[in-house]
Amino acid sequence: KEELNIIQGALELRTKTVEDVLTPLTDCFMLSSDALLDFSTMSEIMQSGYTRIPVYENDRSNIVDILFVKDLAFVDPDDCTPLKTITQFYRHPMHCVFNDTKLDAMLEEFKKGKSHLAIVQRVNNEGEGDPFYEVMGIVTLEDVIEEIIKSE
Ligand code: ATP
Ligand code: ATP
Repeated sequence: KEELNIIQGALELRTKTVEDVLTPLTDCFMLSSDALLDFSTMSEIMQSGYTRIPVYENDRSNIVDILFVKDLAFVDPDDCTPLKTITQFYRHPMHCVFNDTKLDAMLEEFKKGKSHLAIVQRVNNEGEGDPFYEVMGIVTLEDVIEEIIKSE
């Protein structure tokens, strides 16, 4: 029954981690920090349908900002505004969490915080060199809710 699924989903928040529900970096719609907000870029953003868009510098794993689509309300594509102008104006805080964060803790953070998107990172100590933080993807409130209400 559906109620049982929801209860089970809620209970699983204690054991499942953000890594289980994240959207992998390769699937993320992102923008390069040196992008220009011309007609083609703004169309792409609108067509993506996403509300929050990570902005990376040089490498997709190097997320430096989050663009909210509502930040574009006063942007005229004819001006070809540099994306940096917008992100530096709004400066939305970036919220990072580790891959082993449990979903119940993540839900609490989303409830407390202002942003409903977090960047998931892990410590990569597989190679020869020093361990480093590696971005795995993004997780949103929707991903956590989905885990609660999913019916199997
Ligand atoms: P909202 O519903 O608040 O308008 P949204 O539709 O942009 O936001 P969410 O509802 O938060 O996004 O998330 C829906 C799914 O899309 C989730 O699985 C989330 O991980 C994923 N997602 C969110 N933003 C992006 C993005 N920029 N690129 C790829 N996937 C994303
Ligand atoms: P985002 O998550 O992208 O920042 P948002 O803050 O505009 O979106 P939601 O996160 O969907 O909106 O909702 C936050 C709260 O604001 C909810 O309680 C919702 O009911 C309320 N809300 C959303 N839109 C309006 C509106 N136009 N007028 C009044 N309350 C609203």
